[in-house]
Amino acid sequence: MDALARGRQLLPSLANDLMREHSTNGTDAQMISLEEKVKWQLPASLVPDKKWDVVIIGAGPAGSIAAVHLAAKNHQVLLIDKQRFPRDKVCGDGLIQDALRCLDNAGLGERIRERGHLVQIATAFSPSRIEVEVVGLFITMKRRMLDTMIARRAVDLGADFICGEVDKISVKKDQSVCFSLRDIHRNFHAHVGIIATGANVRLLQRIGWQAPSRPSAVAVRCYVTSSLELDRMVISYDKSIAPGYAWIFPMGKHEYNVGCGISSRRAAKKSMHLKRAFEDFVREFPLARELMRRRTAATPLKGYALRYGFEGVYPYARGPLLAIGETIGTTLPFTYEGIGKAMETGQLAAEIVHAALDSGNLRKLVEYPQRLESELKPRCRSYRIAQRWLAVPKINDFLLNRARKSKHSREILSGILTETNDPREFFSLKGIIRTFFK
Ligand SMILES: Cc1cc2nc3c(=O)[nH]c(=O)nc-3n(C[C@H](O)[C@H](O)[C@H](O)COP(=O)(O)OP(=O)(O)OC[C@H]3O[C@@H](n4cnc5c(N)ncnc54)[C@H](O)[C@@H]3O)c2cc1C
Repeated sequence: MDALARGRQLLPSLANDLMREHSTNGTDAQMISLEEKVKWQLPASLVPDKKWDVVIIGAGPAGSIAAVHLAAKNHQVLLIDKQRFPRDKVCGDGLIQDALRCLDNAGLGERIRERGHLVQIATAFSPSRIEVEVVGLFITMKRRMLDTMIARRAVDLGADFICGEVDKISVKKDQSVCFSLRDIHRNFHAHVGIIATGANVRLLQRIGWQAPSRPSAVAVRCYVTSSLELDRMVISYDKSIAPGYAWIFPMGKHEYNVGCGISSRRAAKKSMHLKRAFEDFVREFPLARELMRRRTAATPLKGYALRYGFEGVYPYARGPLLAIGETIGTTLPFTYEGIGKAMETGQLAAEIVHAALDSGNLRKLVEYPQRLESELKPRCRSYRIAQRWLAVPKINDFLLNRARKSKHSREILSGILTETNDPREFFSLKGIIRTFFK
């Protein structure tokens, strides 16, 4: 009996599970009908025992985008995630241009724009509450929906998607990869393995890859429903959480993603409690205070780690194994936007893995770390400069004040968000001098 036929036999019991999940998740689950959900994420026991072209661990944006591009090229792809989809992921839910470009490339741009919430203005507040408005194009969408749509796209293109936690990786003498799942005694074999487990780097550390013991930052968020009307992305640089920021991102229908993030080094140094920092923000920042005063509902605060500025595992590839997304620390310092960058590395890895498999020469995989070094890392370094400048409250006040007075600077800042301008065009002596004349 093939996997699909066995899957169909299991439909009634799975449907009951999912029905329970559906009834507790309300509107978030609307977009995925129960029948669809049952068909596309199979229990691990149902996939055939064979050698896959590529096994991808982690179905966040990085892993699923890699699966989309590899499945589109007719490779046999197995995508594994430890969580049952649709699943929540602690995030600010903001998508900027890099993410939208990747979603366009995956054939999902139109649907994301239709279903997400469009916001066209971002307002940043300096530590002394100097306010700067930047025009841009932002989409917010809960990760529960976004990640499901991408993984689902991979399945539609032919990838198999299973639920299971990978707890062991080994590279065999013939240079193939073997993955074992916790709890069930099954191994999965592949020519190439892609690791996309997000800020969690334990899997690769276990086989000797290096990673800083501490993540770069920690962040918390909750969803607040409030009668306050606010249709712009709000960012507040607060003295107490620098280098980091607090945010209010509108999700549509009076719902807001509210949170704050801080460098974990700073949090450890000041024995800072993130929950307390969040409470200070919603008490002291006027817009947040008003939002909370007029709230009708709020979800519990949830936190997660971030790895930015390439503070993830190293090396980025070894033999038939490649690591992508936040596992290698792709999130950009300064903006903390990581979804787009995670997907960019997923795309890049897929392109290189396809070329290697197609030519039968897996040595070509070495191009992946080389391209990261030459394309993504230099960009990351420029964003790190911006992060350092803004981390100093007095400099932050000064810079935002200059930007408020100079239309040219605001355009540059907007270009930094869309990555059409290098942050050094503003965050440099020359950049600052220019604000006095333009
Ligand atoms: C509070 C907060 C706010 C943020 N806000 C934004 C924002 O507004 N915009 C933005 O662009 N970025 C934001 N980020 C960053 C963004 O969430 C990440 O950069 C992004 O999720 C990285 O994608 P990824 O695919 O690399 O990893 P993830 O999205 O973390 O996906 C990893 C997946 O791997 C699975 N997994 C892990 N270990 C295993 C295992 N052993 N076996 C099987 N599966 C496994 C997990 O279940 C998960 O589904 C925020 C982060 C935080 C914490």
